[in-house]
Amino acid sequence: MPEKKIKILEEVCVGCGLCVKACPFAAISMKDKKAVIDYDKCNLCGACVEPCKFNAIELETLEKKYDHTSYKDVWVFCEQKKGAVQSVAYELLGEGRKLASKLGCKLCAVLLGEGVKDKAKDLFERGADIIYLVDSPHLKYYQDDPYSKVLTELINEFKPEALLSGATTIGRSLIARVAIKINTGLTADCTGLDIDPEKRLLLQTRPAFGGNIMATIVTPNHRPQMATVRHKVMQEAAVEKGRKGTLIEKEYKDETLSTRTSLIDIVEEMEETVNLAEADIIVSGGRGVGRAENFSIIRELALTIGGAVGASRSAVDADWIPYSHQVGQTGKTVCPKIYIACGISGQIQHLIGMQSSKIIIAINKDPDAPIFKVATYGVVGDLFQVVPALTKKFKQVLRK
Ligand code: FAD
Repeated sequence: MPEKKIKILEEVCVGCGLCVKACPFAAISMKDKKAVIDYDKCNLCGACVEPCKFNAIELETLEKKYDHTSYKDVWVFCEQKKGAVQSVAYELLGEGRKLASKLGCKLCAVLLGEGVKDKAKDLFERGADIIYLVDSPHLKYYQDDPYSKVLTELINEFKPEALLSGATTIGRSLIARVAIKINTGLTADCTGLDIDPEKRLLLQTRPAFGGNIMATIVTPNHRPQMATVRHKVMQEAAVEKGRKGTLIEKEYKDETLSTRTSLIDIVEEMEETVNLAEADIIVSGGRGVGRAENFSIIRELALTIGGAVGASRSAVDADWIPYSHQVGQTGKTVCPKIYIACGISGQIQHLIGMQSSKIIIAINKDPDAPIFKVATYGVVGDLFQVVPALTKKFKQVLRK
């Protein structure tokens, strides 16, 4: 963005006060019959310039030059939990490889944790050319302070051109903190990435205005260009057995690794069925399910076919099922082999989270429900008849 500068030309100002009225931020007042700008309030919008009949206000636009020459390579923050690299990291390595090829640079992985050095092999085999590894007991579990300070130090030293992270709970918390520390832009929750090869810009696409349009956002001036990316939107990088790369191990002082919070306990949600984000089959219920107790029929079908239970936001908002089951724009993005939508109308905000599923089966009593437009198979009928009938049939076929 070009920088702006505004000033009152005192010798021209006649103290008419028109600019005071024109300023939407109450940033101009009169002092000794001259207009005075309060720069703490002024946001350089320029609304005062035209009303001044005496051309006594000068708004200058300065083109600032940014030097990006020292920034290189595409980085992927590889999230781990209990020492296991999360599958979103493999998806980002797959996407990162495409971006790095278009930019003609290296693909690098950042791995923070304790006792995770052996995971470097996996990351090389998934396409990383360089791995930045910081192994410390302070990094065993994710904590905002040490993780954001370490990642900031790595970025300041090695200067990546772009940095990707999963739009997970950890990624969202970490990357926003780092972006603030290094004064760069961040696009959260991307569903598509590409490169403008001429300008070397990362094109970061995400739903905007309630999912009604897709916006492509760029970070033209600051580096690195940072994006968090939704889980299950990109394809995982293929494994190339025996592939090798460069491992750069860094150590940091206690000051960098310290935290202002203390981790007391980690309580994991008990899942009766399989984890939603990883599931191959998902049975989801919406407002059509009617009440919390009725989710038992959704759960029973999911258990019978080895699937996870999902939900629309309406079902979550009604307190029929916890938020962790929500699929969609403000919930999880899923990409199972089979997605069964029961009593879900198929609003855009729900579709964003599940429309890349391989097979979509919709059960809805309204033949005009928008979910049928994306469905591979549709059943127009009452879910209270159709779902138990399906469960019964699957139990027979699967001998459960
Ligand atoms: P409804 O739209 O009310 O549909 C219920 C459906 O059930 C209807 O089609 C009806 O025909 C059918 N039905 C009723 N009874 C039966 C029956 N007995 N048998 C068969 N079918 C039956 N929504 C999400 O899901 N996920 C999100 O992440 C999300 N994020 C959002 C973010 C924003 C910023 C906004 C504005 C909205 C978001 N929403 C999200 C809400 C979204 O717009 C819809 O309101 C919501 O998805 C509707 O849920 P639903 O389909 O269950 O309910």
